[in-house]
Amino acid sequence: MPEAQNMVQDNPKILSGRVLSNSPNAVLSKTLLNRYYDLPIPADKILATYVWVDGSGEHVRCKDRTLNFIPKSPKELPVWNFDGSSTGQADRTNSDVFLKPQTIYKDPFRRGNHVLVMCDTYKSNMEPTDTNHRIKCQEAYDKCKDQEPWFGIEQEYILLDSDLRPFGWPPGGYPPPQGPYYCGVGANKVFARDLVEAHYKCCLYAGVPISGTNAEAMPSQWEFQVGPSVGVAAGDDLWMARFILHRLAEEFGVIVSFDPKPVSDWNGSGAHHNFSTKKMREPNGIIEIERAIEKLSRVHMRHIKVYDPRGGKDNERRLTGLHETASINDFTAGVASRGSSIRIPRIVSENKCGYLEDRRPASNCDPYAVTDALMRTCMLDE
Ligand code: ADP
Ligand code: MN
Ligand code: MN
Ligand code: MN
Ligand code: MN
Repeated sequence: MPEAQNMVQDNPKILSGRVLSNSPNAVLSKTLLNRYYDLPIPADKILATYVWVDGSGEHVRCKDRTLNFIPKSPKELPVWNFDGSSTGQADRTNSDVFLKPQTIYKDPFRRGNHVLVMCDTYKSNMEPTDTNHRIKCQEAYDKCKDQEPWFGIEQEYILLDSDLRPFGWPPGGYPPPQGPYYCGVGANKVFARDLVEAHYKCCLYAGVPISGTNAEAMPSQWEFQVGPSVGVAAGDDLWMARFILHRLAEEFGVIVSFDPKPVSDWNGSGAHHNFSTKKMREPNGIIEIERAIEKLSRVHMRHIKVYDPRGGKDNERRLTGLHETASINDFTAGVASRGSSIRIPRIVSENKCGYLEDRRPASNCDPYAVTDALMRTCMLDE
C-alpha cells in the first residue's frame, strides 16, 4: 500500500506528535499541577482510590475518599458504596451497590502513603453483582491453594486518538502492512512509548508485578505481561494494571482500547494466560501439563464462553484461524505453535516441565473468570 506509506512518512501532524492536541486532557497544562501537587496536607490524611469492575464486565470505575489512618490490610478499610444505576449494576430505585476492599496497592499518582484499592461489588442484599467474577475465583483458589496455581497474563491493547482511530495512523488511511512493528523501534514503527514506559514504572511502584512489555504487530498496539501471580491475585493485579494504564493515558490524551479485534485484517488483541501448578513446575511436570491439556480439550466451548465479556461473541471476530490465532470452533495444542488454542513453549518441552499458554482469552476478558475456569477444569475436575 505505497500510498498509505507516504501518508505516514509525509504526515507532519504525526511526525511532530501534534496529534495529541486534539484531546482536551492533553492540552491542559501538566506543570500547573505541580504548584498544588506538593501542597503539604495533614500527615494523617490518606487518600484512597477505590477501583472496581463495572456492569459491562470490561471497564473499570473509581472514586476517592479520605482516610484517617495508613491502611495495612484491606480488612481495615471501610466497605463503601456507589450509585449502581450509573454503572449498569443496579436500577434507580435500589441503586446502592457495595464496594468491598480486596487488595491494596501503592498510589503511583499521588505517592506517599496514598493507596489504590481493588474492590469487588455486592448488591443491597450482599449477593455479588452479575459482573463480580472475583468471588467464584476466590472460592476456586481456596480449594486448590495447596497446588499453587500461578498465572502470567499477556495483556495486549491498542491506543486510539480522540477521533477513535488508532493513534498515529494517517488520517483516512492505513500505515504500511504489518511486519516491522512487533518489538519495533523508531519513530515510524512505534507510537507513544513514553506512555508504555510510564506505565511500567507506575505498576512496579504500585506493587503490580509487571514482568515485561513489548510493541505489538500493529502500529500503536502494545503488550505488557503481569505475573506470575498466585491464584486470585492474578485478577487483582491485571485489573489494577489496566486501571493504571487508563488513568495514565488520560494525562497523555490518548485512549486505551482492549477491544479484541479493533481493525479487521490486522492482528487482534489477546490476553494469553500462562498457567502452571506446583506439579507442572517440578521435574517431569510435562505429564501434568499434558493431563491439563487433555482436560481442557473436553470443555473447549465452555471456556470460550467465559473468555470474553460477551459469551464468545467478541472472540468470534478475533479467533479466525488467521493472525496467530486458532479457530474459535476447534481445540488444538502444540509445541511452539502460535496457531493453536494452547501452546507449550519450546523451552518447556525441552525442560519437560514449566507451564502451558492458553492463547484463547480475548484482551477484554475478565481475568477472574478465566483463571477461575482454568483452576476448575485443570485442578478441581469440575
Ligand atoms: P510469549 O512468548 O507468549 O510472548 P511472554 O514472554 O509475553 O510470552 O509472557 C510469558 C508470561 O508467562 C509472563 O507473564 C511470565 O510471567 C509468565 N510465566 C513464566 N513462567 C510461568 C509459570 N511457571 N507459570 C505461569 N506463568 C509463567
Ligand atoms: Mn452523590
Ligand atoms: Mn507475549
Ligand atoms: Mn503478544
Ligand atoms: Mn503469548
